Amino acid sequence: MKTARLFLALAATLAAFAFPANSRAADARPNIVFIFTDDHCQQALSAYDDSRIITPNMDRIAEGGMRFDRCYVTNGICGPSRAVIQTGKYSHINGFMVNGQKFNGDQPTFPKMLHAAGYQTAIIGKWHLSSTPQGYDYFDVLKGQGPYYNPPMLRGGIEAQATEHKHTGYTTDIIRDKALAWLKEDRDPEKPFMLMFQHKAPHRNWQPGPKYLTWLDDVEIPEPETLWDVYSNRASPASNQTMTIKEHLNESDLKLKAPGNLTPEQRAAWDAAYDPKNEKFLKERGTMSPEEIVKWKYQRYVKDYLRCVKSVDDAIGDVLDYLDEAGLAENTVVIYSSDQGWYLGEHGWFDKRWMYEESLKTPLMVKWPGVVKPGSVNRDIVSNLDFAETFLDIAGVEIPDAMQGRSLVPILKGNTPDDWRQTFYYHYYEYPGAHSVARHYGVTDGTHKLIHYYELGEWELFDLKEDPNELNNVHGLPAYQDIQGRLEKELVRLREKYQLPEEDPESSYRRGRPGQKKPNPKPAAGKKAA
Ligand code: CA
Repeated sequence: MKTARLFLALAATLAAFAFPANSRAADARPNIVFIFTDDHCQQALSAYDDSRIITPNMDRIAEGGMRFDRCYVTNGICGPSRAVIQTGKYSHINGFMVNGQKFNGDQPTFPKMLHAAGYQTAIIGKWHLSSTPQGYDYFDVLKGQGPYYNPPMLRGGIEAQATEHKHTGYTTDIIRDKALAWLKEDRDPEKPFMLMFQHKAPHRNWQPGPKYLTWLDDVEIPEPETLWDVYSNRASPASNQTMTIKEHLNESDLKLKAPGNLTPEQRAAWDAAYDPKNEKFLKERGTMSPEEIVKWKYQRYVKDYLRCVKSVDDAIGDVLDYLDEAGLAENTVVIYSSDQGWYLGEHGWFDKRWMYEESLKTPLMVKWPGVVKPGSVNRDIVSNLDFAETFLDIAGVEIPDAMQGRSLVPILKGNTPDDWRQTFYYHYYEYPGAHSVARHYGVTDGTHKLIHYYELGEWELFDLKEDPNELNNVHGLPAYQDIQGRLEKELVRLREKYQLPEEDPESSYRRGRPGQKKPNPKPAAGKKAA
C-alpha cells in the first residue's frame, strides 16, 4: 500500500515536469457527483427490476458504468446510514446509532479530507444528521426530514454562517435546481469538485410532485409474492413489528388526508387528482372484503412511492444532461445510491430496518468514463461502509487506517482483490422505536444469513438459494449444522474485527439521556390507520 502511494506521488511529480503547460496537477483529478436518495429500493429501479417502473435516467448510470447487486448497508435506517457514509465507520464507532441522535461533526469525515486535498465540496438536499454540515465549501440542506413541498432550507459553508431560506415548489425539483445552479454558476471551475446531490424522496409519506399526481392511475402494479406473509416459521420479531400495509398506514400515507402545507394552487392540483379517487374508494369501502382493502392500500401506497421516484429520475436526467453539455461528464464519476433498501409490500410491509434482503440491499451504480466498463454487473459484497474510502481513493487521497471499509476502485477497474470480504456484518439498534423492529445483528455470505435478536435470545438462519424470500427459518435444523456453525464463528470474528462492545454503547440513550430525544415505541397518537 505504502509503496503504491510512493509510486503514485513519484508519477505525479514526473507528470508535472513532463507537462509543464498543465495549469495544476490537481485539475486532472476526477470530479465526483454522488446522487443519493432516501428509502429507494432496487425493486423500484429498472436497471435492477423493471416490473414496476422504468427509470431511464438512473439506468443511464448503470448502462454507462457498473451495477452492484450486493451492496449491503451496515444499519438500515436513514441517519445512521448517512453517518456511516460520512465516516467510513460502523455506527458504534461513529456514534450515530439510531434516528433522533445528533451526528458528531467534529470527527474525521471524507468531505473534510477532500476539502483539505483541494477539492471543492458541496452538499445539496437532504442531510438529516441534525448537526451543521462540516467540511463543505457549500451546503444547502433541508431542515431535518424536510417536507415534500415548500421546504425551509439551511444554506452556508466553511466560510459562511448557516442561514434559513424559504422555498415554494416541489422539493425534488428545488434540490435539482439548486444542484444545477451550483454546477453552472457557483463552483470554482479551476478546482475538482465533489457534489452530494441528495433527495428526500421517496421517503414516507410519498407525496408526488404536481407533474405525476395522476400518473399510473390506469395501471395495476404487480403484488409481491410475499404480500400475504403471516410470519409463521420465523423468530417472534417478524410478527411483532408495526409496519404492515394492512394495519399501519395512516390517512396521510394513504392520501385520504391532503398535506397541510400546500399553497392554494398546489392544493387545487392535489385535490383535483385525489378527490375523485378517494370518493370512489370511500363509497365502495363498505362492500369491500378485508383482502380487497389491503389490495387497494397496496396500490395507493406503491403508486405514490413510484411517482416520487419518477420525479427523482427526471431530476437526475437533467443533471446528467448538464454534465454532458458542459463537457464535464468525461472526467466525472457519477454514483447513485440510497441510504438503504425498502419493502414495497414484501412480507406485507412498508419501511426498512430488517437485515432481510429488501432493506439490507441498497442500489449502487457507478459511472466513470474510461475506467469502469459500461454495462458491467458486480456481485461482490460491497457496502455503504466503503463509500468514504472510495471517494478518497478516486481523489488520490490517503485512506485513514481507522476507516473500516475498503475502496471500491479496484473493483470498479474490474479487479476484485483476492482478499475481498466474503461475509458481512449488520447491526440494527433502534428498539424501542418506530415500527417496533427488535434489535438484531447478523452475518451473511450472500447465500446464507444468520440473524441474532440478541435482546430476545432468538435466532434465524436462512438459506437464500432455497428460500430467497426468507420465509423459512432453518436455524437448529441438523441439515444446516455445518453452515450454522461456520456463520456463528464468522459472527464472532467480525464482531472482534469491527470492535463491537459486548453491550450496546448507547444503552444510556434508551434510558433517556438528558437532551436526547427518546424514541417513540408506539405509532404517534392521532395517526390512526385508515
Ligand atoms: Ca432512509
